[in-house]
Amino acid sequence: MNLQASLKAPIYTDVSLKLYTTFKIGGCSKYFAEPRTRSELLSALEFREERGVPLLILGRGSNLLFSDAGYPGLVLSTRKLEIGQMTNLGRGRIRVPAGLGLIRLNLYCKDQGLSGAEFLCHIPGTVGGAVVMNAGFRRRGALWHEMKDIIESVTVMSFGGTLRELTHRDIRFDYRKTNLGGEDIITEVTLHLESAERQKIDDEIKANFSYRNSVQDLRYPSAGSVFKNPVGSSLTSGQMLERVRMKGMRVGDAMVSTKHANFILNVGQAKSSDVLELMSIAKKRVLEQFGIELEPEIRYVPSEIDETVN
Ligand SMILES: Cc1cc2nc3c(=O)[nH]c(=O)nc-3n(C[C@H](O)[C@H](O)[C@H](O)COP(=O)(O)OP(=O)(O)OC[C@H]3O[C@@H](n4cnc5c(N)ncnc54)[C@H](O)[C@@H]3O)c2cc1C
Repeated sequence: MNLQASLKAPIYTDVSLKLYTTFKIGGCSKYFAEPRTRSELLSALEFREERGVPLLILGRGSNLLFSDAGYPGLVLSTRKLEIGQMTNLGRGRIRVPAGLGLIRLNLYCKDQGLSGAEFLCHIPGTVGGAVVMNAGFRRRGALWHEMKDIIESVTVMSFGGTLRELTHRDIRFDYRKTNLGGEDIITEVTLHLESAERQKIDDEIKANFSYRNSVQDLRYPSAGSVFKNPVGSSLTSGQMLERVRMKGMRVGDAMVSTKHANFILNVGQAKSSDVLELMSIAKKRVLEQFGIELEPEIRYVPSEIDETVN
């Protein structure tokens, strides 16, 4: 049902979150909005303020696992948010809306003859989600790339509607996390890249995809790597999970990939509880065998604030 048909940002009720995540898992969100402009965004924030409900910002949902019981507040999707346009500012700098998909970002960069964002090309998220997660990728034999290497500044709107410009120095970048996203919505991002020939950019994109395809399991819906790689360990999470025989383990319709032990796949109608149970078994086995506590990379969104992952 559309509660705000006459206002600028339509607010929908009981929207299935399965449709908005790459995992294809989750119940319904109580309220859902997909603003296209700054004024629509502000009106959605006002609605949320009036109702006094929690707020969750959603990019492409490629790093999120929603509870089967849904979300009790407003889910605000950024994927139609076209604040500003893709703009080439010159000298390798571009300004793009945060809801822009990473594939489209790469097409734009290639068209403009700008290199540096190729590592993002096949990550199925938005620019904003990649900033919050400090998304990164390295193909074997190549350099490690992270979002932090190419960010110049980001524009954020507080949940109260105030705009601020943050420079690289204002952002704390860490492995797959930043200090952004908690109380702010990223609306636009300025990136600094380097001029390059289109053919070279294309070759880099193809090499990345070919490597990604050889190591990741892209046959079924997933949220990418489930656990972060432990700092200081010579083994990756995937290698540890393989050694504790997680490959192929199944709970309901959630299954650990037989190709990449750090991928959990939705091979049918998986529930979030199936995924959480597999994660719990995986953590327990790795702790017992290696004495290492794996930290989830995917973000679980509970239906109640005090619900936690074991
Ligand atoms: C097949 C597959 C492969 C993947 N490969 C990689 C990989 O190689 N490297 C990698 O780093 N990740 C990878 N991922 C994980 C994921 O794609 C990235 O973390 C991506 O950057 C998330 O972007 P998103 O738009 O989907 O964010 P979402 O999953 O929607 O959100 C992630 C977090 O960011 C917040 N957020 C999103 N947008 C905004 C915004 N505009 N303002 C404020 N907060 C926001 C959300 O609230 C949430 O906390 C992969 C995922 C899949 C499914």
